[in-house]
Amino acid sequence: MCSGRVDLEFVLRAFSNGMDGVFIGGCRLNECNYITHGNYHALNMVLLCRRLMEHIGMNPERLRIEFMSSAEGILFAEVMGEFGNKVKELGPLGKGEGIEENELKSKLAELRRLVPYIKMVKNEKLASRLTHAEEYDKLFTRDEIEKLLSEVLSYYIDPEKCQACMTCAKRCPAEAILSAKNQIHVIDQEKCIKCGTCFEVCPPKFNAVMKIPGGPVPPPLPEEKRKIVRKSKEK
Ligand code: SF4
Ligand code: SF4
Repeated sequence: MCSGRVDLEFVLRAFSNGMDGVFIGGCRLNECNYITHGNYHALNMVLLCRRLMEHIGMNPERLRIEFMSSAEGILFAEVMGEFGNKVKELGPLGKGEGIEENELKSKLAELRRLVPYIKMVKNEKLASRLTHAEEYDKLFTRDEIEKLLSEVLSYYIDPEKCQACMTCAKRCPAEAILSAKNQIHVIDQEKCIKCGTCFEVCPPKFNAVMKIPGGPVPPPLPEEKRKIVRKSKEK
């Protein structure tokens, strides 16, 4: 019902599935039937996605958004014809850019894994309402995206502090925390989508989850060393 529902993940998934182009049609800006004005969100998402595409070497012209009413059939046909020709001109995804298929797939997979993180960090800008087309190019800059992706936070559970209360594992949306009763918890970095929930919910008295910007994450504690030895039981 609303272009605002088109998530960044949907677009990246379409490209991962081999689509050569993605078109999003939204209602005219400022003519939303609701108070949400989701078409502005869709526009911001597209502006962000086009920068992300550029970052991994894809041609951003493979993604287009246009705003029109359902009564504008001729305009729709014209835009679609134009976009179809553009995509043909760009050639098949990856080949047109000179990127090997598997390389592109793994870059897209990595971006998809980071979607919750990217949306969380850029939350404010994604909710902004641009009133002039001249502002579009400036909403997300190349340097900003470079910085965003080079400083991605990783989350790590400090084995010295974790008390195996299991709160983080229950709340992790990606089932990325290896959890067992009385066992120090461990984050599976391959599954982690960097949402930060574990950091937020770890009780302050334990404060066991650490944020690690950019750099490498210490290796996980081997399973045989994860058993918690409570201080009261040590005595
Ligand atoms: S940041 Fe924490 S809660 Fe979020 S996916 Fe990673 S391990 Fe799970
Ligand atoms: S919430 Fe904190 S203390 Fe509890 S299991 Fe997770 S990391 Fe350990």
